[in-house]
Amino acid sequence: MPLRKQLTGMPAKNFFLLIGLLFLPAIARGSENIRVAIFDNQKTVTLRSSSGFIKAGQSVGCKEKQLIFSAASVGSQPVRFKSAVGFIRVNGKGYRGWVEIRKKSNGRLLVINDLDIEDYLQGVIGAEIPPEWKFEALKAQAVASRTYALYQKRTAGNRPYHILATVDSQVYAGSRGEHPKTVRAVRETRGVVIVYHGEVIPAFYHSSCGGHTENAAELWGIDEPYLKGVDCDCQKISKYGVWEKRVPLPVLISALRKLGYRLHDVLEIGLGNITPSGHVKDIILRHSGGEITVPAENLRAALGNTEIPSVFFELELSGGEAVFSGRGRGHGVGLCQWGAQEMALRGFSYQAILSHYYPGTSLARIK
Ligand SMILES: [Zn+2]
Repeated sequence: MPLRKQLTGMPAKNFFLLIGLLFLPAIARGSENIRVAIFDNQKTVTLRSSSGFIKAGQSVGCKEKQLIFSAASVGSQPVRFKSAVGFIRVNGKGYRGWVEIRKKSNGRLLVINDLDIEDYLQGVIGAEIPPEWKFEALKAQAVASRTYALYQKRTAGNRPYHILATVDSQVYAGSRGEHPKTVRAVRETRGVVIVYHGEVIPAFYHSSCGGHTENAAELWGIDEPYLKGVDCDCQKISKYGVWEKRVPLPVLISALRKLGYRLHDVLEIGLGNITPSGHVKDIILRHSGGEITVPAENLRAALGNTEIPSVFFELELSGGEAVFSGRGRGHGVGLCQWGAQEMALRGFSYQAILSHYYPGTSLARIK
């Protein structure tokens, strides 16, 4: 379709946003790859491709449809394959780009998916948020995820991969994460990243902040003006607005043991320091041997981050259980996904959403 025809009938606001995107400052040149750890500590790895494989460094493709690797069949040098056409399947899951298998010092296998960052993002956005959300929220997530990934790449050092495929970095599901709407959100923001003074930022994000995002300096000692915490209306729509979790004391005690605290009982429980946004920094427990102070994020991780959705909670002992009554889900730093959806529902653009959650930043384009 000719450009003039496409622009006819486009609202003036969108027209200027499009023109603005064309003139974003460029901060890098050339295509950008990313190396994602998709499987770790595997005894065997199975590759499948209905069209056959291409092996890195070989001009002739191989016709086999399935290859099985074990520590014995992978030497000291990694092996790299991609599908001749379409997705390559690794242990039954589909991926774009190259798959690299490396033998680790413990004799197990690490599998890395090495692919263009835009292809990677296609498998991220639909795995992170529902594809049926407002399109501006999907685009805000695409830009935040691209920025986060690029920051991880630039700070990866000598690690063989740049980023994990799990919630510990950001969820990447390969072909299973792809959805036409989220793929379009990636394409329409192609190369766009968030910068502060020309540098790509660590664009942390989370599910639902509980009403105010957290200052990264309070939680992790990362003191940046764009990660200070802002008001958020996610509570109006978030599925994780309020929650309650009851943890039996034996479960609590065994979680504390995992963290290295040896105690046999818990007589009293209370909150220690709380950030100005309301997130709990530490928890005080009195037991028959004395009193201990436990960082709330550590206890949350030991109990399971899905079990205790956030550290934005009240806590009391009741009937042999520790009762957590909380709000929100995730660490609370940076973009709030449910808050972004709430802003998009009110008609805000993805640029406005990003500048709300990362104040003082601007957008640039990697090429
Ligand atoms: Zn929020």
